[in-house]
Amino acid sequence: MKSLGSIRRDFAPWNDPNAKPYIQFDKVTKKFGEFTAVNNLSLTIFEREFFALLGASGCGKSTLLRMLAGFEEPTAGRILLDGQDLRGIPPYKRPVNMMFQSYALFPHMTVEKNIAFGLKQEGMPGPDIEKRVAEMLKLVKLEQFAKRKPHQLSGGQRQRVALARSVAKRPKVLLLDEPLGALDKKLREETQFELMDLQQELGLTFVVVTHDQEEAMTMADRIAIMDKGEVMQVATPAEIYEAPTSRFVAHFVGNVNMFEGKVAEHTANATRITGATGAEIVVDNGGKAAAGSDIVFAIRPEKIKVSSKKPADAVNALEGEVYDVAYLGDMTVYHIKLDDGQIVRASALNASRVTEDPLTWNDRAWVSFRPDAGVVLTR
Ligand code: ATP
Repeated sequence: MKSLGSIRRDFAPWNDPNAKPYIQFDKVTKKFGEFTAVNNLSLTIFEREFFALLGASGCGKSTLLRMLAGFEEPTAGRILLDGQDLRGIPPYKRPVNMMFQSYALFPHMTVEKNIAFGLKQEGMPGPDIEKRVAEMLKLVKLEQFAKRKPHQLSGGQRQRVALARSVAKRPKVLLLDEPLGALDKKLREETQFELMDLQQELGLTFVVVTHDQEEAMTMADRIAIMDKGEVMQVATPAEIYEAPTSRFVAHFVGNVNMFEGKVAEHTANATRITGATGAEIVVDNGGKAAAGSDIVFAIRPEKIKVSSKKPADAVNALEGEVYDVAYLGDMTVYHIKLDDGQIVRASALNASRVTEDPLTWNDRAWVSFRPDAGVVLTR
């Protein structure tokens, strides 16, 4: 069985026409004065989904989260949770909790008191609180830190306290605004896996805001890519990467080569594209673009092979010379300047220690790729 990307996903309610959406943004607009932060946006999230909102600073991700939490009301449109319109319901009455970027821990309280705080406010009986706090401490592996205060903890430990505190009340949905923003790279990576395990264990729906594409790719079941208050694409990480539907999304996630061109003709199972500078490309998935229309062919660097000779069996092969080359250990990145002037980025995994066909600056070189290696974009 073939699939996009290397992971098989068995959890995919978005592909089931009978699955009931859990969270629905229905034509939601949010204006601050004249400024439109969220623009007529519709989005569906399913129960137990790990959903990521990904976008550049200011694209409206946090505003979306804050509306779901109830700190802001939409200017127009509806937000539904389990079929119920949330308009007018105050934050504390929503089955939603939010973990803020700053964690907002109480500095003068111990870890266990921080975790217990919300439960106490809710009026939970003392012994139940104790039991729940112990459960939470175990969940985030902080049992031995119960009596410490936040300033006596590392960044990662503080993050876990904040997490324990926000799930202590057993919300149905946890909203996380840049949950790992304060951690250094290595700790971030570890914590991403911890967060995924925790979400699985608790069976909660997570909606996380991040501007870090790798983080979204690692953790999320699906990602919504946002730009200027609108959703550009909602899809699994593999679909976002392997089948972006627009130049914006192709550019936003990972590295990509773009060939401007026109659809020259469709044949029975292929599409021929002529590049703006003369190069010809044959693809087997360009059927949706009308013949004669302007398109962009987008292809990821690792899908392009670089060789000193033209591969005998290549459907697509373009000639140029090595413009730049960087050995990064696990892979080598080539910049090949094609004879039409375009610079192509290609990367090769160094799966063995020696290379059969080493290249260097100014060598003549061929770039080649399969007809299914890239996507044809019409917008
Ligand atoms: P970041 O990653 O920087 O947090 P974001 O995508 O979360 O960005 P939002 O915080 O949702 O962005 O803000 C979206 C836009 O709305 C921004 O241009 C911001 O300046 C504006 N905005 C947000 N809150 C308000 C407010 N209370 N009043 C006026 N403008 C606001």
